Parts: sequence; C-alpha cells; structure tokens
Amino acid sequence: MSSYRDFHRRSLADRADFWREEAALIDWQTPFDEVLDYAKPPFAHWFVGGRTNLCHNAVDRHLATRSDQLALHFLSTETDTSARYTYAELHAEVNRCAAVLRAQGVGCGDRVLIYMPMIPEAAFAMLACVRIGAIHSVVFGGFAAASLATRIDDAKPKVLFTSDAGMRGGKPIHYKPLVDEALRIARHPPSAVIIVDRHLDNAMPRTPGRDLDYATLRAEQTNARVPCEWLESSAPSYILYTSGTTGKPKGVQRDTGGYAVALASSMRRIFCVEPGETMFTTSDIGWVVGHSYIIYAPLINGSTTIMYEGLPIRPDPAIWWKIVEENNVKTMFSSPTAIRVLKKQDPAYMKKHDLSRLKYLFLAGEPLDEPTARWASDSLGVAIVDHYWQTESGWPILSAQPGIEDTPRKFGSPSFPVYGYDVKLLHEATGEEVGTGEKGVLTITPPLPPGCMTTVWGDDQRFVDTYFSTVPGRLAYSTFDWATRDADGYYFVLGRTDDVINVAGHRLGTREIEEAVQAHAGIAEVAVVGVADPLKGQIPVAFAVVKDPTRVASPEGAATMRREVLDTVDRELGAIARPGQVHFVTLLPKTRSGKLLRRSIQALAEGRDPGDLTTIEDPAALEQIKAALRT
Ligand code: AMP
Repeated sequence: MSSYRDFHRRSLADRADFWREEAALIDWQTPFDEVLDYAKPPFAHWFVGGRTNLCHNAVDRHLATRSDQLALHFLSTETDTSARYTYAELHAEVNRCAAVLRAQGVGCGDRVLIYMPMIPEAAFAMLACVRIGAIHSVVFGGFAAASLATRIDDAKPKVLFTSDAGMRGGKPIHYKPLVDEALRIARHPPSAVIIVDRHLDNAMPRTPGRDLDYATLRAEQTNARVPCEWLESSAPSYILYTSGTTGKPKGVQRDTGGYAVALASSMRRIFCVEPGETMFTTSDIGWVVGHSYIIYAPLINGSTTIMYEGLPIRPDPAIWWKIVEENNVKTMFSSPTAIRVLKKQDPAYMKKHDLSRLKYLFLAGEPLDEPTARWASDSLGVAIVDHYWQTESGWPILSAQPGIEDTPRKFGSPSFPVYGYDVKLLHEATGEEVGTGEKGVLTITPPLPPGCMTTVWGDDQRFVDTYFSTVPGRLAYSTFDWATRDADGYYFVLGRTDDVINVAGHRLGTREIEEAVQAHAGIAEVAVVGVADPLKGQIPVAFAVVKDPTRVASPEGAATMRREVLDTVDRELGAIARPGQVHFVTLLPKTRSGKLLRRSIQALAEGRDPGDLTTIEDPAALEQIKAALRT
C-alpha cells in the first residue's frame, strides 16, 4: 500500500507542488500565480489568478483531437429514443444554447435555474451556462413547486430552463404546471421560461410573453458561435441545493478552476477512465453525482458519457448491462439502492450480456451493505468500489484509488481518504482524535481540496457556522457522518450525526419533511424520523399530532387524513420525500426544554432500545409511539 500512502501524504505535505501538477490536466487561458490562497480560513482560493472555463475544458479543447468521437450518448427507455453527439456536435448544440441564453440577456454571474428531465438539452443548458459565465442551479425534477420556489427565491435566476414533462415508468410527469405554480408563489420569479417541448403534454399551459419555445429560439441560432468567458478560478460555476438540519436548503457553491482540476484528476486516479473510453453513471443531473460524473468529469476527460432516462428494470432488469455491452462501458457508477432493486430480480438477467469490458462498478450515495456488495461482485465479476462523498465535496472523500494503487477492498468499507483530503475522526465532545475502532465524527481539516464547495451561496457566515463550528477546540469541516477506522486504515461510515436521512441515496432533511407535513392545516406538530428499510436504506416515518383528534378517531377518518398529509408532502416537497408511514398520536416525546427526541423515536421504530430518557418531559409520549407502531 506504500504507493497510495505516499501519494496521499504528498498531497497534504507538499500541497502546492502536488496540485500544480494536477492542474496541468486542464487548459488555462491565463496561468495561475499561486496554487492556494488560504489567508482567510476556512475559505480556500485555489489557483489564484488563473483563468479558465469549464465548457472550454469539457468541449472545445477536444475539438482538435476528438471532434468525431462520441461525447454524449443519450438513451431513453421511457420514450424509446436515443441520440448521439460527437464532440463537434456537442460543441454546436452548446453554442446554440449559449446564444439563446445570451439573447435573453443572460450574462456573466447571472443565474439560470434548470428544472429538466434527463434529456440532452439539460446537458446543453448546463454547459451553455458555464460557457458564458452564468451560474446554473439545477433542481431535481422530483422536487415539487414549493421546493422549486424556495430555490428560485434564493438564487434569483434570470431565466428558468424546463421541459413539458419527464417520464418515469412509462408515465409522464408534467413539469410545466409545477413550474407555473412555483413562479406564482416565488417572490423573485425569472422573467423568461425556456421550454424544451417533448410533446408529452398536449395540454401544457403557456404564458404568452414569458414562456418561450426552445426549438424556435434554437432555430434562430443554428450557426451561432459564442466565445467562452474566461473566468478567474474562484468564480462560481454552479449552485446546488442540499438538505441539512434546518428546513432551509443550503446552496452549495462551487468554483471553476478547482472543480475542473479535481474532476480531471479523479477520472485518472480514482475512476480509471481514459480519454476515448466510456463511463456510464446512472444518477440524475439534479444530484451532485450527475453534475460531476454524468456531465463534467467524463467530458473534461475527453471520454464518452452515457445519459440514461429510465428505470433499471424496464423493459427488463438486464437493460443496464445491455447498455454496458453495447457501449463498451469501462466504468459504471450507480447507487446501492439500484443494486438492491436488481438483486430482487431473476439473477439470469445479470448474466445475459458480455460485461468483459466493464472493469469497475463504483457505488456511492448511501451505505453499501456487505451482502449487496458481495452479491454484485459475484454476479458481475467486476471490481465493486464503495466510495463516500457528498454534495459539498463534489468528488470522492473516501475511496479506493485504483489509478494510484490497486489496494484490496473490504466489503462494507469505502476504503481510504482520497488524496487532498486531511480526514480525521474526532470525538464529538472533546475534539480529540479517536483511536482505532472507535466511533468519531468524520471531519476534514481545512483547507478543503480543490473541487469542494467554496461557500454557501450568498451566505459566507452560514458556511462557517454550519460546517466549521461543530467540533470543539479546532477548525474542522464536519461531514456530519459518524465513522470508524480499523487497524488496517479502512474507514466504515456509520450514519449521520444530524437529522438528515438518506432515502434511496437521496438526502432529505427531516426538518424539511416536518415543515411539509405541517403545511396541512389540520396538523399541530409532527416528528419525522428515518427508519431502516431493506431496499431504500431508510424511509421517512411521520408521527403527527392533529389539531382536532376526532378527525382521526375512526379508521376511515385516519385514512383520509393520512392521504391528505401525503398529498401535502407531494405538493410541498415532492413524492421523493413522502413518508412511508404516517402515525397519529396526541403527544410527542420531547425533552423538558422542548427538543424533539427524534433519536428515541427512531430507535423505537427500528425495534431498538430508546436510550437515555432521563430528560423526557412526559414518558406517556413514548408509550403512544410504541402503541402507534404496534397498529
Ligand atoms: P449527498 O450530499 O446527497 O450526496 O449525500 C451525502 C451523504 O450520503 C453523506 O453525508 C453520507 O451520509 C451518505 N453517503 C454517501 N456515500 C456513502 C457511502 N459510500 N457510505 C455511506 N454513506 C454514504
């Protein structure tokens, strides 16, 4: 393991030289003067004075050597369509889209909100934004109107880019009515809405003057050429909202130069994809994995990326492996939940296709349980690489790094700290490092490496307060995850330290779901906890106190109320946040100072001991939870 260890050690001990060398993987229009400015901890400014552009690195710079190579292969099993774009064709499309945005008055530093299904135009829009120095904020298509409105009001976009509908499991999901509702409630609605009309919704409402048809605008820009805006390395490239302890999502802000360098480097050293080879990432552009490993990293690397709209089991559970075979995929990136879904199907589907070109299956986003990892390894015969990171980091924090050294992997562990990350497990109360096998908070000693979030959009103080102020006695970035390290140096991630839950790899704040439930006028208060689920990892379960208990006194009344609560969550947050169960109680377990005892509720819901209850205000509340769980 010496070569990984040396590499990691050098990345921290000799930071400037290390990252200067990695920075040579991308093009700089103006070279940087300084590798790192860390004069104002914890704010790290990477590649000071260097000017570059993400779109140039992802598209233009490959034109000289790989213009006819496939850049983006779109496949939809929802609409039975596909489209292939070479680097030259991608360049032309991105230029057209950039010209369309420019014509709407979008310039450097302006925000563009992208609320799109997994179609090529979403990729064009993202690349077009960064081309002209505009900052994109992609919102996952599963989020509902109220969530969308919150994100609109925080980022104040000039333009919203959307589509008439997405498709899931053969059913259209109408985006446009959600956009209309979000714009109705937003305080800072954008002046223009550009719609990619897939003709999936013939009844799509349109607001004249505001709603614009992308195909029409694009036709006016067929031969457009829009130069790349050369941005100082620290200029924001995008904002991506993520959930935390509070109800208000945080806008994770990413820079330009550091992000490009980290992604380029990770393709070689972690994901082992060469230029010209193919990567297939099954996430969605609405998540960080989609940003980094569907769009930017494979393209910056001169590889081919696959963009897939569809489920892993439609038309049959062999679809992914068919895609892998037909496209000579070298590295695949997916989630443990998706593998657990496949594990429930006939194992013959896993053997239907020739996977001899596939070398790695990387899995992240949630804990990868050992049986699932073992099953995937046995059925596919490829290296399964569990790796750990988060929206904030933008690229892996813990992972095997086979491009440096092919270290043995242990099931259940995302291996070791990635180079550039000074990972430490700290005791939550003392801030001291914990020993081998002891549980500690997974922290990163700043400066955070290139690629990580640089601040919270519009709120530097919130960045410092949220992430760097929780460990006593030292400046440390908290991931809000618990972990242990064994005697061989392997890490094991044990779950969140805060009230964030992980449903099928999607991160949700229990506070956010509670606020959504309370949007129902009949609910007085509610506690939402994440409960272990064999398929999705966790599911949200709600314990609600209704204002008028007679409404839920009969089974029928309770069923009606339950349905209304779920509809409210769908409307406020989106179906991804819908509680798996809603129980009605008249009292919630709280401390004497009024703090909800979520951990105790969660323990009871999972059949565990509720822990120390000396601070509980009224023990009867726990009895109610127990009784509710028995029904
Ligand atoms: P997100 O920001 O949505 O990507 O969610 C990040 C969170 O997902 C982390 O803070 C962890 O709680 C969890 N997570 C991501 N990858 C892993 C992994 N490989 N093992 C365990 N938990 C993970």
